[in-house]
Amino acid sequence: MTSTIRVRFAPSPTGPLHMGGVRTALYNYLFASQHGGTMILRIEDTDQTRYVPGAEDYIVEALAWCGIHFDESPAKGGPHAPYRQSERRELYKQYSDRLIQSGHAYYAFDTPEELEALRKAAEANKETFIYNAETRKTLHNSLNMSAEEVEALIEAGTPYVVRFRIPEHSVVEMDDLIRGRVVVKTETLDDKVLFKSDGMPTYHLANIVDDHLMEITHVIRGEEWLPSLPLHVLLYQAFGWKAPQFAHLPLLLRPDGNGKLSKRDGDRLGFPVFPLAWTDPFTGEKSSGYREAGYYPEAFVNMLALLGWNAGTEQEIFSMDELVEAFSLERVSKSGARFDPAKTRWFNQQYLLIRNEEQLAEELRIVLNNKGIKFADDKLVPICRLMRERVHFVHEIFEEGSFFFEAPESYDEQVVKKRWKEESAAKMQQLVAVLEKASEFEPAALDALLQQFITDNGLNTGAVMNALRLLLVGASKGPHLSEIMWIIGKEESLKRIFAGIDRLSQTTQN
Ligand code: GLU
Repeated sequence: MTSTIRVRFAPSPTGPLHMGGVRTALYNYLFASQHGGTMILRIEDTDQTRYVPGAEDYIVEALAWCGIHFDESPAKGGPHAPYRQSERRELYKQYSDRLIQSGHAYYAFDTPEELEALRKAAEANKETFIYNAETRKTLHNSLNMSAEEVEALIEAGTPYVVRFRIPEHSVVEMDDLIRGRVVVKTETLDDKVLFKSDGMPTYHLANIVDDHLMEITHVIRGEEWLPSLPLHVLLYQAFGWKAPQFAHLPLLLRPDGNGKLSKRDGDRLGFPVFPLAWTDPFTGEKSSGYREAGYYPEAFVNMLALLGWNAGTEQEIFSMDELVEAFSLERVSKSGARFDPAKTRWFNQQYLLIRNEEQLAEELRIVLNNKGIKFADDKLVPICRLMRERVHFVHEIFEEGSFFFEAPESYDEQVVKKRWKEESAAKMQQLVAVLEKASEFEPAALDALLQQFITDNGLNTGAVMNALRLLLVGASKGPHLSEIMWIIGKEESLKRIFAGIDRLSQTTQN
């Protein structure tokens, strides 16, 4: 049964969605899903100067990748369509007019040059110019003119904006579901522009009108919007509308805890800040994304969910369904949440460890295909089984286990120095003779055969195994040797041993 709870994610398509934005969408989604409510995507694109082509598609694709779905959206439609503010532009003017008629807003004819001069003059006195109850008395606006003068200016086509008239000597009292009661004196607020000279509403007006018309019950958004809350609450009062409940989410902080995690930080600090990779359409600048870096969306979402919220238990791994069940706004913290890139990799590893083997093998096959490597499909499951404990990402199974797919091109010098002795070549030649005769080339048989070889010849296990590993792998890493030999097969194993003896004998001679 659908409840009356209605929430919205309302991004502005001004660029790729930052992971903080994904978290906002996620918390809205969790809250709506838990209450059987409705989740709405509304595109807030009234600021034409900040519009970035491709950004809306990016947002939609990124949220779909994360498994965040909408009940009403530009693509899906719904009872309050359209869901793109640029397509609703005709609607906003009447609301701006309504506020003017009721005395809550006024026309301001000050030109950008005049305002700039006032700002400069204030700056020169180390002050900030604010359009407010004090300054508006002397500025070029309808509060200081007769109705005829105002009409004449508008009829003459004089550009104007509509500003909200902040009530004087008053306080705004607000309740935030995360922060509790917030009280602000109206003296600290400025007369924000609601409607611009280009005939478009500003964010503030369009946002409130749409939240009202779309019957939004809970506004869950980032802390950066908290300073706008008093204005929004005053707007609801001015319209005589019931305000939704508000919840302002804590900021995401940089890993060192110093300041907000910005769009710029990511690649500079060595991790993505965007869900998907993005190429700026104007500058061509590329930014990395979690998807392309090899993260599972489930791991990314799990990590984000815990960035500012916790279940109050030790549990860290949550599926989306479990998050829906466990989430609560009461357990969202007030203070900033520090992003931890190492922990993010850890989350991915946890999801890799619980992945079904066949699925993991399929993912590895895609990595190999992309590299143009052909490999027997039946060996991919055992490779994944052997390697999954050692990596954080599927692509690392290839990187850390490249020896499964390609013969070593070089041999780790340190290891050669330590492990390749005068007599190693002769011992390996002897071993070749035994291996060539082996009828069964699978792990248990190979283990027995190697052991027999070592005992028969009175050799040291370490010396034999280390030298052999060097020839097969090129370094002293990787899982159990007989597993590697079984996977690459008899022919390839012998080929690598021959080639290695050849190459390493040359180096020891030189
Ligand atoms: N369009 C605003 C943004 O880009 C929405 C803020 C809000 O949720 O009210 O974040």
